[in-house]
Amino acid sequence: MSSLFLHFLLCYDGKQESPNAAGKAVLKGACALREADMTYREKTKKIRIGDREIGGGSPILIQSMTNTPTEDVEATVRQILALEEEGCEIIRCTVPNLQAAEALGKIRKQVHIPVVADIHFDHRNAIAAIENGADKIRINPGNIGGEEKLREVVEAAKKRDVPIRVGVNSGSLEAALVDKYHGVTAEGLVESALDKVRMIEKAGYENIVISIKSSRVRMSIEAHEMLAGKTPYPLHVGITEAGTLLSGNIKSAVGLGVILNEGIGDTIRVSLTGDPIEEVRSAKLILRSLGLRSGGIEVVSCPTCGRTRIDLIGLAERVEEMVRTIRLPKQCDIRVAVMGCAVNGPGEAKEADIGIAGGVGEGLLIRKGEIVKKLPENELLDALRHELEHWGEQE
Ligand code: SF4
Repeated sequence: MSSLFLHFLLCYDGKQESPNAAGKAVLKGACALREADMTYREKTKKIRIGDREIGGGSPILIQSMTNTPTEDVEATVRQILALEEEGCEIIRCTVPNLQAAEALGKIRKQVHIPVVADIHFDHRNAIAAIENGADKIRINPGNIGGEEKLREVVEAAKKRDVPIRVGVNSGSLEAALVDKYHGVTAEGLVESALDKVRMIEKAGYENIVISIKSSRVRMSIEAHEMLAGKTPYPLHVGITEAGTLLSGNIKSAVGLGVILNEGIGDTIRVSLTGDPIEEVRSAKLILRSLGLRSGGIEVVSCPTCGRTRIDLIGLAERVEEMVRTIRLPKQCDIRVAVMGCAVNGPGEAKEADIGIAGGVGEGLLIRKGEIVKKLPENELLDALRHELEHWGEQE
């Protein structure tokens, strides 16, 4: 057992206070390991995944998962490269057989972000994935075929210093814990996760990441609050089976928003029944909305009302699409406002770095509070694109 984990166990008195509104967590008792001015994520153990680092206050990384057959190397590489371009920082691929494990090795050589192998049931797939260069494996130690097989997986991971993510899901919680807690509960999920962590620690390995996932938002929040005070390992956070674009985004934003704002979570995934590109876009927006990520272009737009006299909904959608194609210098942060009318529009647009305020079939282009020019409606998008492409040259 690591000294850090031992320290956690000794310090934790089981009476964790609710994390306060500022996202800080405080433990009761004489040993204030989590001081009031530190978040959970600053106290987690640093874990290396390929060339990236998570935990210990490292930036929160965005994950997604491919939905191509992993054996189809070409299609999987194509999808990962597109996800990288969108901002995905860690990618997980399913490895249901040995062919997929071999394919993973070829895929990894053609992409630029760490590749995680997702394994269920067969420990040989986990070992093969590690031998083929997986940067991390995700397993459920409870369904890998017993203690001896788990030990073999851990030995393979140790040899290459590959982290193991212990994944617990509300849909596959052990019957004994369902009975013990009279149903699927946050307590059951946490106990299951900690049991599995101990299985890996018992095999002599502490290069661990944990995820506990539930499709119920409140249960996810409770489980993360409980777990964060009981383990030093980094947490991968997501709301599982969240749903299609609208419901999945809302559930993920609410769940991840609360959990992240409490200072919990080292990597995230927004799970959507849809294109994984959307998962990455949503994850970026969630991090940005919480002030946990900077850089890039944020679009704000008014909801439109009876005063709107241009096609603002269409324009705002085109602006959203357009800004995705703009490549800014690193850490350049721009807020773009797309506003509908001359009453509130100019004022709101002035709050942004650059903005459009609509008129009747025309609009004002406003940069840093100054009106740049008045343009016909059909020229506004191009003018905005030009400004963004030459951002920084005006100063
Ligand atoms: S900015 Fe103008 S058009 Fe948009 S909602 Fe406000 S008042 Fe209406």
